[in-house]
Amino acid sequence: MYKLHSALGVATTLTPAAPVTLIRPQAAARAARFFVEKFPGKSLYAVKANPSPALLRTLRANGITHYDVASIAEVRLVAETLPDAKLCFMHPVKAEEAIAEAYHVHGVRTFSLDTLEELAKIMRATGNATDLELCVRLRVSSEHSELSLAAKFGAELGEVKELLMATRQAADALGICFHVGSQAMTPHAYTQAIERVRAAIVDASVTVDIIDVGGGFPSIYPGMEPPALELYFDAIYRAAESLPVSYSSELWCEPGRALSAEYSSLIVRVERRRGDELYINDGAYGALFDAAHVGWRFPVTLLRKQESEAELQPFSFYGPTCDDMDHMAGPFLLPADVQPGDYIEIGMLGAYGCAMRTGFNGFTAETLVEVDDAPMASMYEDRVDAPLRTARNGTVVKIGQ
Ligand SMILES: *Cc1c(COP(=O)(O)O)cnc(C)c1O
Repeated sequence: MYKLHSALGVATTLTPAAPVTLIRPQAAARAARFFVEKFPGKSLYAVKANPSPALLRTLRANGITHYDVASIAEVRLVAETLPDAKLCFMHPVKAEEAIAEAYHVHGVRTFSLDTLEELAKIMRATGNATDLELCVRLRVSSEHSELSLAAKFGAELGEVKELLMATRQAADALGICFHVGSQAMTPHAYTQAIERVRAAIVDASVTVDIIDVGGGFPSIYPGMEPPALELYFDAIYRAAESLPVSYSSELWCEPGRALSAEYSSLIVRVERRRGDELYINDGAYGALFDAAHVGWRFPVTLLRKQESEAELQPFSFYGPTCDDMDHMAGPFLLPADVQPGDYIEIGMLGAYGCAMRTGFNGFTAETLVEVDDAPMASMYEDRVDAPLRTARNGTVVKIGQ
């Protein structure tokens, strides 16, 4: 793997013909230390956001000891990469074989569930183990989040009492977990969800040992500048502190995006320009799935030695495959004189970006370069002095270098 100083250096020295993935280990290290130091409980990294072994090792080296895994492949990957990590299998619908292998081969003791059927499955697969930490997943609203996770999983208030009582019987430690949806734009999402937890505990009158507030902690994107993470942590702490739980209970969270978004970005080349449409060499089947399918906007910057003086104007992107759906509407703000041969850095792709790449139509990105310049935006530096400027339309753009 190459190591270079900056995104601009990569574009100008390598002049790559295929997209290049940039990684910034210091950015992930800083995010990990922030959660370890400031979240008032334990932070589990949600591996699905970005399962790169190098990232896993960086997070582990910076204090993240617990990992939220959702498939047997993720269990195996983390067990192999980080033999001392604690794995929590937090997918509420698992294959029985996956539970058995996780428990018997990899020492996993923590599982989530949202039905009595899943509870029975876990008990069968583990031979009625008596050392289980079982987290009942509640359905909560996703109304404050950019990506909903409310439809698929989670027990409804009406069915939760019976499920909590049955799980209490089976579990060594009983937890309650939820997920407010990804990129939650206000701490209120968590306080509202914790109120549902309170109602469920009161209704079932069970002793609860773990409150797991899930993922959803935001990163920064154009048009989406969330409040500081400390405000989320304060709100969660205050709401959780007053829950009727056992005095030794633990508070957990499962950040995926917040720990990994700043870790990666992408350098693409413009292959053609048609008006305000740029044909670039990565897209919907590469690292830009969310840009294509849910209209997510990522920060972009033109990488030219001689900075362009032209005004910024909105562009949309076409990816490299021969598929009309390989289209990213943006808008992405770039200097008006952008042209074929130019390189563009697309930022904040460490979460749900680089992890979602396919090789469809023969287009992929094999080159990985480590750089030590700053990510295009950050939740983890002094927001007042941060080296980013917010344009009038809320777009975050990089200034300097
Ligand atoms: C996806 C997921 C996460 C991570 O969510 P982010 O929004 O990336 O923080 C955490 N927990 C569970 C159960 C998930 O499915």
